[in-house]
Amino acid sequence: MTLFSSAAAPAGSASAASERYTIMGAGLVGSLLALYLARRGYPVKVLERRPDPRLAGPIEGRSINLALSDRGWRALEGVGIAEQIRQVGIPMYGRVMHDVAGNLTSQPYGQNNQAIYSVSRAGLNRTLLELAEAMPGVEVQFSQQCLNVDLRTRTLELRNTATNEVHNHEFQRLFGADGAFSAVRGALQKTDRYNYSQSYLEYGYKELNIAAGPGGTWQLEKNALHIWPRGQYMMIALPNLDGSFTCTLFFPYEGPHSFAALQTPEQVQAFFQEVFPDAVSLMPELVEDFFQNPTGSLVTVRCFPWAFDDDVLLLGDASHAIVPFYGQGMNAGFEDCTVLNQLMDQYGQDWHTIFREFQRQRKPNTDAMADLAVYNFEEMRDRVADPRFLLQKKIESKISAQYPGRWMPLYSQVTFSATPYAEAWAAGQQQDQIMQRLMPHIHSEADYDRPEVQSLVAAEMKAKS
Ligand code: FAD
Repeated sequence: MTLFSSAAAPAGSASAASERYTIMGAGLVGSLLALYLARRGYPVKVLERRPDPRLAGPIEGRSINLALSDRGWRALEGVGIAEQIRQVGIPMYGRVMHDVAGNLTSQPYGQNNQAIYSVSRAGLNRTLLELAEAMPGVEVQFSQQCLNVDLRTRTLELRNTATNEVHNHEFQRLFGADGAFSAVRGALQKTDRYNYSQSYLEYGYKELNIAAGPGGTWQLEKNALHIWPRGQYMMIALPNLDGSFTCTLFFPYEGPHSFAALQTPEQVQAFFQEVFPDAVSLMPELVEDFFQNPTGSLVTVRCFPWAFDDDVLLLGDASHAIVPFYGQGMNAGFEDCTVLNQLMDQYGQDWHTIFREFQRQRKPNTDAMADLAVYNFEEMRDRVADPRFLLQKKIESKISAQYPGRWMPLYSQVTFSATPYAEAWAAGQQQDQIMQRLMPHIHSEADYDRPEVQSLVAAEMKAKS
């Protein structure tokens, strides 16, 4: 059986062999894109600033694990590797909220065992890279940092990070998948009338660790995403295969409860003991982790256009970096690959049309996703601790079950569907307005079946287009 048996290579691809494609960045999106291009028989050169992760150990400074959901799975299915990845993913069927007293409340993510999956970033990246490298025509060069792109002469200035030697490399067609601080985008930003914005939250994040229990067991519910919502800040934890959990503290940079306020081991220990007491007992290396692990910033990047002539296209975080609160950054970048692949099916090698269609379709959707990601921060750090909010979610789930196909909760549209993000966001806002009108009449789950509530719901559903 070949690795790609479940998704046959597209027909009519051999004619493409004369054109060379360069991908900047062998991160999650760059390596998946390499697979998509290679399956068409296109020769691909991937250039990556970092050393080979198989020789250099784990990638520092980014989340250790990630939540993979339907858009990501669909893109992996497109190159026939979803099942292979699923076997090393941990399904998380819902959120478990931890209050200060250690009481737990849970909320399913979807219906019928729908789950998002915790996967290792390094493991996923390594698998994608290995599969890409195994394809004929794919060459990956590590320790190659892009310093500059000359768009006029189609020349890359590259620095070998191992030797410091700088050299030039000509490209025919370049895909910029070099992340939120993309050097390829840097070149586009210097062109006339280029739109660009970056905005940072006043919060940073720090990764911490909940240790595995005896024999590699999980000390918290394994198949869930854990949240410690505390109003203005929060901690979350995702399970790892070895029994540990990776926690991420999302915390203000400044203020009374902030990174700036926690300067000594005693302050860290006392603060965690006070606000996350049930977690702190499972974090034997809390203080070391807190002071050793970097504090990461949280940026949203918007830019346009994503294409330069038919020569250069940005995708993934290079074109739309978002904050991580919906767990969609990688999923959106993987969906970029799905959409680009569909356009290649449709338009062959008419790159002019493909690039224009790609940015026309994707830009409104990734803009909507950027807004959704900021919106979800408030939900996670604050609203999930409110019993009224959890009741609203239960009622929404009942409406969804009673009116299948006519009501899908916003989270499900984003996470468990292929509905374009902008449509999901618009539908979610409309549904939220309906919920605001219904909830004053509802005080318990049982109220939903009361005839007067049922008739209010029926009237709202009739009015809903
Ligand atoms: P990257 O993963 O950043 O890869 C870019 C690659 O380009 C890197 O390998 C880099 O070394 C290389 N590169 C950069 N500059 C150069 C250069 N000048 N020359 C050569 N190479 C270069 N997304 C989810 O879907 N689910 C989650 O649960 C989730 N959790 C997250 C948690 C945190 C804390 C953060 C910060 C992000 C999270 N994300 C999540 C978002 C996700 O990490 C990104 O969207 C994803 O990594 C984007 O992939 P990419 O390939 O576009 O960029």
